[in-house]
Amino acid sequence: MQDIRTLSLSEMTNFLQQNGEKAFRAKQIYQWLWKKNIADFKSMTDLSLSLRTLLENHFSLHHLHIDQKVQSKDKSCKYLLKLYDNQIIEMVLIPSKERVTVCISSQVGCALACRFCATGTMGFVRNLETYEIYEQVFLATQLATELYGNTLSNIVMMGMGEPLLNFNNVNQAITLVTGEDGLAISPSRITLSTAGIADGIKLLALAQPKIGLAVSLHCANQNKRELIMPIAKSNHLEKLIDALRYYHQNTHERITIEYLLLNQYNDNLDDAKDLAYFCRNFPVKINIIDYNNISQTHFKPSSQEKKDAFVELLESKNMLVQIRRSKGQDIAAACGQLVKNTNKINQFYTLIE
Ligand code: SAH
Repeated sequence: MQDIRTLSLSEMTNFLQQNGEKAFRAKQIYQWLWKKNIADFKSMTDLSLSLRTLLENHFSLHHLHIDQKVQSKDKSCKYLLKLYDNQIIEMVLIPSKERVTVCISSQVGCALACRFCATGTMGFVRNLETYEIYEQVFLATQLATELYGNTLSNIVMMGMGEPLLNFNNVNQAITLVTGEDGLAISPSRITLSTAGIADGIKLLALAQPKIGLAVSLHCANQNKRELIMPIAKSNHLEKLIDALRYYHQNTHERITIEYLLLNQYNDNLDDAKDLAYFCRNFPVKINIIDYNNISQTHFKPSSQEKKDAFVELLESKNMLVQIRRSKGQDIAAACGQLVKNTNKINQFYTLIE
């Protein structure tokens, strides 16, 4: 049976009219489904019993189930969430002094196979439905209060998958998360991270101009980038620059450039010069990321000296640089470590539930 949350408001209206029900009920149902995220059809208490039965007979209503929860020493928490077809995705809550950030997934697995990323090794399984993306945020708003006594302040789409290769569902989920019918969270609190899908970046500029955009660049030299990120072959740096210029012209937003430092691969001064050259095309903030070890590759993190020299060169060219500290390394919840690996969690980490 089709999940009722895959219907748009107009599809729901049509369905009701075809079944002799009033069209305005669609909005009411929509609010139960999204804003209140109710557990089942029975909970739609202001609908007649016959309408509730009609819905129940025609649609299913699936929810994400917390399969496991693992807490890191640094208090960040990784959740393995089970989907209706038993697939597992990961969501990570990251507290800091004043805020709670959630890192959510957009696909089960990932097709991009970036050489430094654990998710890439599991391949692509399927896109997440709009409601599966939305519900991660809904859950996170509740968990932030429960776990940290704080409201959820930021949402980053940096979990499993490439959000711009699931454009429609990601876009709809953002519209619901930010809309009055959904969670009414400000779009400025959302950041979408992409490996650099040029066409998707242009679409995003028009569809969601108020959210933040981060690009996983990791290399500003075409040949070297292709070797670690196969998607770069069809999204050449020139094409990416063109898309990011377009993005900036339409949104006037500063773009975050993520750069993972890999020892003796992309951490030389020449690499820093290439990066600075790339970044001259639009206003950016550069996020330098330490490589988190994953067992599937031979890469190593750069030394502190290399990192300092790299940052110094960028700063000498007046670039805005931040060093991103990863959390949750001990529970494999840090960037690039998200992979379905339940056994490993059982073996090595403290299970809380
Ligand atoms: N597909 C999207 C979102 C998921 S990756 C993207 O590529 O941006 C989220 C971030 O983690 C990206 O910047 C990614 O490049 C980075 N990452 C991947 N593997 C990593 C690793 N082993 N250590 C540190 N960061 C990593």
